[in-house]
Amino acid sequence: MSSKQNLLNLDRQGLEAFFTEMGEKPFRATQVLKWIHQEGVSDFEQMTNISKALRQRLAEVAEVRVPEIVLEQKSEDGTYKWVLELDGQNRIETVFIPEEGRGTLCVSSQVGCALECTFCSTAQQGFNRNLSAAEIIGQVWVAAKALKGKANLTNVVMMGMGEPLLNFKNTVISLNLMMDDFAYGLAKRRVTVSTSGVIPAMYRLAEVSEASLAVSLHAPNDKLRDELVPINKKYPIAELLEACKNYIKGEKRRKITFEYVMLSGINDSVEQAHELARLLVEVPSKVNLIPFNPFPNTQYKRSSNNAIHRFTDVLREAGLITTTRKTRGDDIDAACGQLVGKVKDRTKRQLKNQRVAMP
Ligand code: SAH
Repeated sequence: MSSKQNLLNLDRQGLEAFFTEMGEKPFRATQVLKWIHQEGVSDFEQMTNISKALRQRLAEVAEVRVPEIVLEQKSEDGTYKWVLELDGQNRIETVFIPEEGRGTLCVSSQVGCALECTFCSTAQQGFNRNLSAAEIIGQVWVAAKALKGKANLTNVVMMGMGEPLLNFKNTVISLNLMMDDFAYGLAKRRVTVSTSGVIPAMYRLAEVSEASLAVSLHAPNDKLRDELVPINKKYPIAELLEACKNYIKGEKRRKITFEYVMLSGINDSVEQAHELARLLVEVPSKVNLIPFNPFPNTQYKRSSNNAIHRFTDVLREAGLITTTRKTRGDDIDAACGQLVGKVKDRTKRQLKNQRVAMP
């Protein structure tokens, strides 16, 4: 392991502190941010508006170390998937989904996941460790570079492997870089954190970030959600919805996106749609239905198109903006809930029984 500071771990504030400590002016931070994140440069020698002496000093104490691509796959529908090598032991997956007028990158926040949502294949992998900020923003760096001249990266969703809010600090640094005009410069509505509902972290996030929030709801009542999303036993729906309201309070046009995986015969009945609509009347919301993507040894089946239409109709009649997520990239196992990477040591699930302490 290198003892050099990996500059991908630092957002603008961190980089300013880094340069100040070196006895340099803080504006170096914005210069270097632009080189790294806008120009895709990882070699200090190429940073030509920085003096030769400083470039040499930087090369002695710092580096820009990005995850290594071990596999790039392109789906028939244009979706890309990259498998990235992190440390010789662990791999993660990052997916790019091109659509009319936009291109969304789906990034991972952890190697595996400590939660045990029963319908998610990442959960079956167990949990190994949090990603560093360099490894999270490194996914954006790698994708932006690979897509240059081919497609536009306009949105980022933290909907890959892992629970971002259980890797709070590094997630926030990465979000800052995604939205920083000197780095990726994405608007706040184009950067979305998805959470299974880690309530204390949702309150904290409201204080420190402007990113948009998506919540994996998946059930209209605690009894069923306890089963599908077991973190619900610690953080039940009523408290979750309070945290959602708090996240967007005072901002009239903002909404929370609720993700709802469509599982045949489990959570997709018309009664359950009514129950969901009643639950969400109080929260400015959008509902995103996700047809279940199967993986080996799962007990679940995807809801029929009819069931999804009926469910949608009920929600729309109740005034909820409802969309169905198109399944993309499933021919290369790049669809929601199909990301598995490679997780060494799958035993570290201790997080799941703790209430998280927030910094
Ligand atoms: N841990 C975070 C981030 C993961 S986001 C969260 O739970 O929100 C990935 C989204 O895909 C979540 O909404 C997740 O519930 C959903 N998902 C997981 N497995 C799936 C599957 N097999 N089919 C469809 N969607 C799935």
